[in-house]
Amino acid sequence: MIFLDNAGTTKMFEECVKTYSFYSCQEFYNPSAVTKVSAKIGAEINDVRSLILKKLNAFEGTIIFTGGATESNNLAIKGSMRGGDYEYVFSSGEHPSVLNVAKTLEMQGKKVHFVKLKEDGKIDLDDLKSKLNSKTRLISTIFVSNETGAINDIKEISKLREKFAPNAILHIDAVQGFMKIPFSVEDFKVDLLTFSAHKFHGPKGVGGLYVRKLSLIKNIVDGGGQEYGLRSGTENVPAIMALKTALEKIDVKQNFENAKNLKEKFNEVISKENGIKILNFAGSPYIESLVFSGVKGETMLHALEENGVIVGLGSACSSKKAGNRVLEQIGITKNDIISSCRISFNAYQTVEEIEKAGEIIIRVYNDIKKRVT
Ligand code: PMP
Repeated sequence: MIFLDNAGTTKMFEECVKTYSFYSCQEFYNPSAVTKVSAKIGAEINDVRSLILKKLNAFEGTIIFTGGATESNNLAIKGSMRGGDYEYVFSSGEHPSVLNVAKTLEMQGKKVHFVKLKEDGKIDLDDLKSKLNSKTRLISTIFVSNETGAINDIKEISKLREKFAPNAILHIDAVQGFMKIPFSVEDFKVDLLTFSAHKFHGPKGVGGLYVRKLSLIKNIVDGGGQEYGLRSGTENVPAIMALKTALEKIDVKQNFENAKNLKEKFNEVISKENGIKILNFAGSPYIESLVFSGVKGETMLHALEENGVIVGLGSACSSKKAGNRVLEQIGITKNDIISSCRISFNAYQTVEEIEKAGEIIIRVYNDIKKRVT
């Protein structure tokens, strides 16, 4: 099976499984207990925080461990809300774990703005500028689109925040960027940043929120006060430690280069078939979409699975819903959207397997076309 839905999830590294097992069956202690063995686990978790800060190139702040990016996004947004005459700004290319929170805020009567996307899939900076003012409490935007792979210019967004919304907190959803694309929190000057381990070969159900200053957000869950009071509940120690193993194994720069090469080689194969259009937004080397002229994306997805290739239909979380709201916004026609599949690589795949996948895709497409025409 060739797996080309790595933006949906990735296969966990074997090393992470070993770590997970060790911290489940041997060093299984609750870090909040007062015993020495527990204190040791607490210290080890703090080491993971430090390692993540290093990987983010963050000179200040800390990490709040959560149950994944959906929770981190909820904590970032709901946790930064305050009573009063504030405004909240979101890009309209967000993952449902941001978009649906924004919609809830709107329904509750908060002043919420959605910023348009441009044809290249990136946030429209002029539109963003027009929506910022001194009442802006939060700007929340995706870093790398999980749908198109478009990469937002966070440095520019940060400059606009500084100039036009000096009281705003800047949050980015970096799920498709962290440990995949080299970047630095200090360059970006963001306050909050979301990540999720299962997108970079760590376990599912663990992620985190980078927080520049703890006072920026409030807890959204009440309980025993773990994670600086911002995320109560016994820490998921095996998953956090397995996440660390993934961090230690990954060379981001090398992976970025590998992914670039894979995408290039894959597209060389796919370009041989005129009926397949590549929607490549010159963004993340890990993500792109294919449009299969005259064939539904869903038909292709199922036929490909039968032939040993797994692809995605937009975001896995929203794939059961018709259409694709992000592609629609950037001017991709309804017909093209219906005929599209999302392709996403991981850096550990080989050129041979990617080229083989490309050939299978072309063969399956031609087989279906013959049947439908
Ligand atoms: N944000 C983005 C950009 C994503 O791609 C995803 C996963 N589809 C999430 C948030 C949600 O991540 P998790 O599965 O860790 O809740």
